[in-house]
Amino acid sequence: MEIELNSVYIEVIKEDITKSKMDCIVNAANTSLLGGGGVDGAIHRAGGKEILIECMRIREKQGGCPVGEAVITTAGKLDAKFVIHTVGPVWNNGKSNEEEKLKSCYINTLDLANQYDIKSIAFPNISTGIYKFPKKRAAEIAISSLREFIEGNNYSFRKIQFVCFDDDNYQIYLKTIKGFV
Ligand code: ADP
Repeated sequence: MEIELNSVYIEVIKEDITKSKMDCIVNAANTSLLGGGGVDGAIHRAGGKEILIECMRIREKQGGCPVGEAVITTAGKLDAKFVIHTVGPVWNNGKSNEEEKLKSCYINTLDLANQYDIKSIAFPNISTGIYKFPKKRAAEIAISSLREFIEGNNYSFRKIQFVCFDDDNYQIYLKTIKGFV
């Protein structure tokens, strides 16, 4: 399903994000930037060691990536040109500003992508796997953050995808995005 908002096509698809043809894919990383399970492991496996080498350089410079922030690397062997690694919050029953932190992931990623003149970007469902963020609330935050960004900034984007992996998230995103049409 696709909607158009301020000349940007926003699409919800069910796919393995490592197969994406977008300019940039987003990784739900952890603060170490050294790879992990879930989508993080899949991106590092498919993209090869170049991605990890750049992550290690960033670690040397700034000591990893704080929750809610984003860093950019090559995409190695993937079709994408760039990977933006952002660190989602671990769900703690809403007691640790998780909603604000998840919003920051989307806004900071979009901001960084814009600085690199990226035209198309694919987001996974950040924090909704191992980090256990409630999926419906996470989808609402993802879509409303995107809308806020493209209503308030000059940007280079033509296409933005929300790439769902599990069917639960796919159904939730389809329903949520319909509420934004
Ligand atoms: P987090 O630690 O931020 O929760 P996870 O990788 O555990 O990160 O999960 C984030 C989301 O990524 C989950 O919804 C999961 O289903 C999804 N996911 C896992 N593997 C892939 C993949 N190859 N492509 C796209 N999404 C994926």
